[in-house]
Amino acid sequence: MADPHSHFWVYENKIKRYAAIHRANCGFCNQGEGIGVGYNRLHASWRGPFGSLDEAARQIFARPASLHGFMFCNRCMKWEPEAPLPRAS
Ligand SMILES: [Zn+2]
Repeated sequence: MADPHSHFWVYENKIKRYAAIHRANCGFCNQGEGIGVGYNRLHASWRGPFGSLDEAARQIFARPASLHGFMFCNRCMKWEPEAPLPRAS
């Protein structure tokens, strides 16, 4: 937990049943606090922080029954060279 900005969080929408991976310093994530106003903890949750993209993804893949899918945040995760998207296997 050296640099909190290098960590990842998983946002989970419990209604739409999807997850999204964010960096801790993303404006949407705000270190797992979300955007604040209007954030309904019954409908959404944040899991983290995770030390690596792998860890965050594994946490999502471990619960296939509760999620329909996941995405990478298109604000903070878009093609950043230090966070390459995992290859489909
Ligand atoms: Zn983000």
